[in-house]
Amino acid sequence: MSRIFLASRNAKKIGEMQRILAEHLPDIEVVGLDDVPAYDEPVEDQPTFEGNALLKARAGAQVTGLPTIADDSGLCVDALNGMPGVLSARWSGPPKSDDRNNDLLLAQLSDVPDPRRGAHFACAIALVHPDGRELVVHGRMDGRIVRELRGSGGFGYDVVFVAEEHATAGPDGVGLTSAELDPAEKDRISHRGRALRELAPRVADFLS
Ligand code: IMP
Repeated sequence: MSRIFLASRNAKKIGEMQRILAEHLPDIEVVGLDDVPAYDEPVEDQPTFEGNALLKARAGAQVTGLPTIADDSGLCVDALNGMPGVLSARWSGPPKSDDRNNDLLLAQLSDVPDPRRGAHFACAIALVHPDGRELVVHGRMDGRIVRELRGSGGFGYDVVFVAEEHATAGPDGVGLTSAELDPAEKDRISHRGRALRELAPRVADFLS
């Protein structure tokens, strides 16, 4: 069985990635940060998701000697010119807090009318081999930002985001946020699910 190191500290994100990878790559053992010796993780200072994903995957591959996967992702809001983007995790400043990020985002958009509340999640996933080979895939989920927090699943901005696939779902037709979806349904439409399904068929070749 081949082993891949998943370089992430975000437990919810790891859960999603392990679930999707297990479905599409059942013969690969995914190890996490707790399974490898501690190391200095790089500061995510790149201006693009791809740049940060590569930074994290390169550092992991170098330290562990294992093929390493890293995801960098975020929410891009049309009315904020694509922000918070790569700053999504830290949008309301330190310490990182999903609750404060969501409150700030809703406050910033309070005067933005419904037709201009479009947004998308984006993610880049890098797979880096210790021999220097690199692969990057991308995924995207389009939708809009609602006006109140809804749901208890997922993580991050899921509670304020309705994907276009679920825009009129739910009992009252106001849409289901990503935090109100079954995990499998989020995986089916999410930026991360899409990127990982693009990556999966290329992994065997990459590892050989
Ligand atoms: P990263 O760990 O530096 O890539 O930061 C990603 C941040 O983007 C997270 O902390 C969330 O705020 C946000 N984000 C990324 N993917 C998702 C998602 O699937 N749902 C909700 N928020 C997400």
